[in-house]
Amino acid sequence: MKTLVYSIHGFDQASLEKAAKGKHNLTFTDQSLNASTASLANDFEAIALFTSDMANGKVLELLHDYHVKYIALRSVGYDYVDIAKAKSLGIKVANVPAYSPYAIAEHALTLLLALNRKLILSQYLMRIGDYRLDQLIGSDLHGKTIGIIGTGKIGAAFASIMNGFGCELLAYDVIQNEALQSKLNLSYCSLDYLCKNADVISVHCPLNKATQHLFNYHTFLMMKKNVIFINTARGGIVNTVDLIKALEENRLHAVGLDVYEFEKPIFFKNNMTVKIYDDLFLKLKSFSNVLITGHQAFLTNEALEGIAATVINNLDEWQKNKQSLNDL
Ligand code: NAD
Repeated sequence: MKTLVYSIHGFDQASLEKAAKGKHNLTFTDQSLNASTASLANDFEAIALFTSDMANGKVLELLHDYHVKYIALRSVGYDYVDIAKAKSLGIKVANVPAYSPYAIAEHALTLLLALNRKLILSQYLMRIGDYRLDQLIGSDLHGKTIGIIGTGKIGAAFASIMNGFGCELLAYDVIQNEALQSKLNLSYCSLDYLCKNADVISVHCPLNKATQHLFNYHTFLMMKKNVIFINTARGGIVNTVDLIKALEENRLHAVGLDVYEFEKPIFFKNNMTVKIYDDLFLKLKSFSNVLITGHQAFLTNEALEGIAATVINNLDEWQKNKQSLNDL
């Protein structure tokens, strides 16, 4: 089936081509999908999207006019697609519900360790020849309380890692994972209790109506003053204005972000010579205790292979006029 792959990057074209084995007549564009680029999909039966794309109601109507029937997402999250609207237009959408959860869980850990042991500052001091240690004191993670928001595939992988560090595990989820609870000695609790008691909070739930701005000034106020807050899930789960206020008031020890509420116009492209008119982002980047990566948590070889295999499998099933198991 003729497929247009939007938002292609140097890192994912090869894995998609390898998985397709010549099928689906893949055409690649580095343009992201929006109302002005929807016309590129004219006469393509399927399109493949990434988190930098935006398939809202208006864009879906345009795609429908261009006869697009299938949308294969190259991500777990599907907050950038209006699923109800797609259904009403008869456009099928499938995500990649599972690929290496370790990729994201290990990246959350990477942010945590780098912040806790002040690796960025330490590397800077090393480069300029300042070998004093006075600014580099961290804390043992062993024995600390780790709060995990969302204990699905990624949250569970993160919980296992932190269990291995000898941490206490608190979790908040709308569905409790009994097996994980007994295997790891993890306790579920309310969001308030978790915020008040965790030394580290790591976010692993999806972005939806219930989780949008789940972390806001009120929740930041409840947290311990020495908390390390990590978000590798979706930027919109955190109210960025409130996060900045909490940072300015020294309410948080350190913050690690792989996602940012307004990342779409910024991430995944070379903006070295482009002026970024986003004061919130520039402010966030200016804090020495904030470490930001550009939505790279998924970026391991294993995850890229897993994503590509599932995307092609979804297209294969649709081509056979079957439902994909991953249809949303
Ligand atoms: P999952 O569906 O396996 O787990 C999500 C968990 O969140 C579930 O246990 C669910 O019950 C819980 N949840 C849902 N609503 C909640 C709420 N209101 N409050 C608390 N918990 C709630 O998904 P996953 O594979 O673990 O992925 C989690 C999220 O990570 C994705 O939705 C995606 O946004 C994000 N993600 C980010 C990257 C990245 O590169 N940064 C990569 C993959 C996924």
